[in-house]
Amino acid sequence: MSWMASARHGVREAPAGLALLQELLNTRAPMAYGGDLLLSADDAQRWLTEALATWSRVSGLPSPTLLISSTDLRAMRRLRNTFENVILTAGKPELNGALPPADVPVSLVPDSDGWVRMVPTGRGVRWLASALWAEALLAQQAGVWPRLKLCHNAECRAAFFDTSRNNSGVWHDVSTCGNTANLRAFRERKRLMGGSGGVPQL
Ligand SMILES: [Zn+2]
Repeated sequence: MSWMASARHGVREAPAGLALLQELLNTRAPMAYGGDLLLSADDAQRWLTEALATWSRVSGLPSPTLLISSTDLRAMRRLRNTFENVILTAGKPELNGALPPADVPVSLVPDSDGWVRMVPTGRGVRWLASALWAEALLAQQAGVWPRLKLCHNAECRAAFFDTSRNNSGVWHDVSTCGNTANLRAFRERKRLMGGSGGVPQL
């Protein structure tokens, strides 16, 4: 069992169940990381079965068997778009033109000692939405939510977990996306200055 979508990007995984949300974001795979895992119901089914088994292991909660129809596939893509939008526009309300998602049900399940677990509820993709928003809440309460990011390279957008001390990371991988951006900025400066010459040593 593994987080197969995130593994394709070689990114650091988010802790515990938050990695399920990172997985969903990484099913979109631009650049050279492979195809979109939500393009066909078969691919989506394979991905989701594996991801839910992994989530169940790390969260200690049971996961249902979700069978993906083509309607579910569209709903899953919408869910992915919603979270992409949430993360890309975090702290920038002027950019966020999307409506907030509707209320999401979860179950609160206390044990005999009074400890409460938040358990996703609902059927099909609604269950998935419940699980993802529950993980978002847990991450927000743990203070790690702002560390789940999308790579600033618009052609990449891999979801990564930023472990830098001051949470300042912007690239999923500095040596690839970071260098590409540096090179582009260097060429642009050169063009504006009307200069010519070699490319910098990176
Ligand atoms: Zn990247």
